[in-house]
Amino acid sequence: MKRLVLLGGGHAHVHVLDALRAQPRPDVEVTLLSPYPRQVYSGMLPGWIAGHYSLDECVLPLDRLAVDAQVRFVQQKGIGLDLAAKQLQCSDGQTMDFDVISIDTGPVTDTRMVPGAAEHALPIRPIERFISGWQRWLETLGEAGSPAIAIVGGGAAGVELALAMRYRLELDRAARHIPIHLVSSQPEPLAGMPAVLRKAVSRLLAERRIDWLGGRRAIHYNGRTLCLSGGGRVPATHCLLVPGAAAPVWPATSGLATDPSGFITVRPTLQSTSHPYVFAAGDIAAYADPRPKSGVFAVRAGPPLAANLNLFLDGEPLQAWKAQRRALYLISTGKRHALAAWGPFAWRGDWVWRWKDRIDRDFVKRFTPIEGG
Ligand SMILES: Cc1cc2nc3c(=O)[nH]c(=O)nc-3n(C[C@H](O)[C@H](O)[C@H](O)COP(=O)(O)OP(=O)(O)OC[C@H]3O[C@@H](n4cnc5c(N)ncnc54)[C@H](O)[C@@H]3O)c2cc1C
Repeated sequence: MKRLVLLGGGHAHVHVLDALRAQPRPDVEVTLLSPYPRQVYSGMLPGWIAGHYSLDECVLPLDRLAVDAQVRFVQQKGIGLDLAAKQLQCSDGQTMDFDVISIDTGPVTDTRMVPGAAEHALPIRPIERFISGWQRWLETLGEAGSPAIAIVGGGAAGVELALAMRYRLELDRAARHIPIHLVSSQPEPLAGMPAVLRKAVSRLLAERRIDWLGGRRAIHYNGRTLCLSGGGRVPATHCLLVPGAAAPVWPATSGLATDPSGFITVRPTLQSTSHPYVFAAGDIAAYADPRPKSGVFAVRAGPPLAANLNLFLDGEPLQAWKAQRRALYLISTGKRHALAAWGPFAWRGDWVWRWKDRIDRDFVKRFTPIEGG
């Protein structure tokens, strides 16, 4: 019997699990490996911080999805591949043999970019670590003498998290005045998005008393002060790292072909350019026709990945896939209000938040098996 390993329960793999639920493969032994039995849906994370959602409303139960798809679930992390032996090395020291492996492990947060951050700051990934870290922050912010938050990263995720934190802290009289600093090497927030959106967000940050520190890199953090390039020093008892997506080191050190940043280069069929029995999708993949790292493109890669895994297992020719050119970006602003961007177009309003809320809830519902169903 052939062995297919699905490494990581990311956005593309939940589609693969759904496809296997609809059309099981009794002729293939399929295993899903993930360090956690659930996948926290990042799009709803700012809404959880703001208090609009409970955590249960934001998670996909990977273990139950696997049961429905007749897939073995192993709670474990992959840390390397022996490509010649077709073996996956797991963090508990065990190995797992495969004939085909598909990788959807998402990006990592590179804490080395800010010396001291690994010891003192909270990285956004792994998201499970961020969740327990934020819960601890809520307890310890009050205990710090002069609490202050610094967020490193002024892209969409950093902006959403800053606005959500301000909204959450404003609910608590004692925490209302805690300073929030948002540090970015880019001069404006949301680099690469339409100018109208960048301007709207700059105004919003000022309105919500979020101190935008653009055009500066964080160069050191010691648990009390964040030092910036150019000589600035920001008092910060709590520091969150939300830089752009980084690649884990193990794909490159295992011998897979990667781009200069370490992401796995794939063909339009989603097969590794160096090892055709290795597939990759989502943020860990560097597509032939590159796209920004985003959940939207990871979701879109799911159906072609499911189809091509099946075709490969059957020895059939694979289909080429090309991601759509544009993605819809929806940015929540703490309150039940959001901004949207599609190419050069932008919108804002409470109705945009309801639109985002519907899309996010539908996504989670679609991949949540009905209890006892
Ligand atoms: C706060 C925040 C908000 C965001 N909002 C949006 C949004 O609204 N829209 C949007 O398009 N994008 C958004 N993003 C970006 C989005 O989160 C990523 O682009 C998306 O998660 C990438 O999906 P993925 O499938 O590649 O990986 P992930 O969603 O990261 O899933 C990877 C999975 O693999 C598991 N895993 C990791 N390492 C290993 C390993 N070594 N072995 C086994 N399993 C492993 C992880 O636990 C996880 O379950 C947001 C990001 C953040 C941080």
